[in-house]
Amino acid sequence: MGVAVVLVLASACGGAGDDAADLVLRNGKIVTLDASRPEAQALAARDGRIVSVGSDADVESLIGPETRVIDLDGQLAIPGFIEGHAHYTGVGLSKLQLNLMDVANWDEVVGMVETAVAEAQPGELITGRGWHQEKWDRTPEPNVDGLPHHSALSAVSPDNPVILTHASGHATFANAKAMELAGITAATPDPDGGEIVRDASGSPVGAFRETASGLLGPALATANEPDPRRVTLLAQEEAFSKGITSFHDAGARWSDVDLWKGMVDDGDLKIRLYVMIRANPASLAENLAAYRTIGYGDRLTVRSIKVSIDGALGSHGAWLLEPYDDLPKSSGLNTTPIEDVVETARLAMQHGYQFNVHAIGDRGNRETLDIFERAYAAAGPGDYRWRIEHAQHLHPDDIPRFGQLGVIASMQGVHATSDGPWIGAKIGPQRSEEGAYVWQSLMGSGAVVMNGTDAPVEDVDPIASWYASVSRMMANGERLYPEQSMSREEALRSYTINAAYGAFEEDIKGTLAVGKLADVTVLTQDVMTIDEASIPATAVAYTIVGGEVVYAGAGR
Ligand SMILES: [Zn+2]
Repeated sequence: MGVAVVLVLASACGGAGDDAADLVLRNGKIVTLDASRPEAQALAARDGRIVSVGSDADVESLIGPETRVIDLDGQLAIPGFIEGHAHYTGVGLSKLQLNLMDVANWDEVVGMVETAVAEAQPGELITGRGWHQEKWDRTPEPNVDGLPHHSALSAVSPDNPVILTHASGHATFANAKAMELAGITAATPDPDGGEIVRDASGSPVGAFRETASGLLGPALATANEPDPRRVTLLAQEEAFSKGITSFHDAGARWSDVDLWKGMVDDGDLKIRLYVMIRANPASLAENLAAYRTIGYGDRLTVRSIKVSIDGALGSHGAWLLEPYDDLPKSSGLNTTPIEDVVETARLAMQHGYQFNVHAIGDRGNRETLDIFERAYAAAGPGDYRWRIEHAQHLHPDDIPRFGQLGVIASMQGVHATSDGPWIGAKIGPQRSEEGAYVWQSLMGSGAVVMNGTDAPVEDVDPIASWYASVSRMMANGERLYPEQSMSREEALRSYTINAAYGAFEEDIKGTLAVGKLADVTVLTQDVMTIDEASIPATAVAYTIVGGEVVYAGAGR
């Protein structure tokens, strides 16, 4: 009976009929990470899922009149990148800041602000950075010491405060609205160590040197927040342009979840978000049960909690077992009281949430492993998959514990190479070699290692982090303990199936196999085989989520 119905519909459509795919990719090199068929030429998707992986001939019969067919022209297709740890709203907010590095002159700055005002909420703060009057092709008129007067800027943005940071970071430019909100007038005195640049009459022209920039603080504080829906869409656009199909948000508020749920309902949220909630124990106790959500519209999952046990290495905030080499009086900071971390672990167990703790220093990691170990023991055997976010600097004794306990190391390849040049100064050569970004040692212990960027701390670009993972090449041309580098396949796994595992989603994501979500990233170069030095020049050709092309690179 079922067969007969299919045949009738097939003939009615004149082609593949009911079986027709929504999307077919063919003539490519598809690296699936699926052991039963590691490499394929073609893939077909229908209703958001993969329905065929094989040769061009295999998918031919699935092409109907409505099927979108993409000729990959030999390009590499991989399972969609999963950003394992970044800050979703932060990525969106960073896109709202105007990049003024390459403007030709002041008129161009004013024009960019005018465009931004047209898209902003009433009263919303407009920010930008990177302007430099010495780089402009002409001197603004009028000017004071080559610095522009705010009049043109204030005219295009009468109601929105505007604050533009100089390329050096040592000066700021404000419009009249920002100065008004900050209470700055001709009568405002220069602060110590700073100067309000003034015209001949003594009125501020809009430029603030050094500490005077701090006078604008009240304008920042009183400005309206950007529309959160717009911020969400900007982050999504940015992620899609970098080939990311799923995103683990390392610290969201309950209100973010409410917003995103609505955007799933509207069909606007197309990226798949795996949300770590950041809240205090009292708020968690009150809300965890009601907010637990798995695969809402195949887009939104809330089953994870994030806490930071320490800070960052660069600011001596990472919590170490022994003092810093370059700050012997300090061993770093414990930023969330241990009793709160323990209580959060208890709440996570009670409500069936994963617990993800930011730990960078070896002491922070040891304390976290101890808390996890006790929580696991108290709860009895189970599939918990708790994660340590960053796991950057480990004592050698603690490395095997990741594998033994089944604790996931959620790391960021690109942090290794951007921090690499100064890690040695902070913790010395022995601790660096034994414990800094020890991906191979961790994998050797049986631990699952994930990847990501911690954007907007770093660019959200998976290619850059993937390249750092396989090369450990730093900007200074040296490699950071290259024996810890990942192979290209290990790096790909860290960005796909391992991240899926880190979200309990390995059944639906992370490899390209029939029945899984049709999330695919197509790259312009075969990063599995090209010269290592060529990898950073790789671009995204297509980003595909649920069989829908959500991003196509230039010329496609
Ligand atoms: Zn982070």
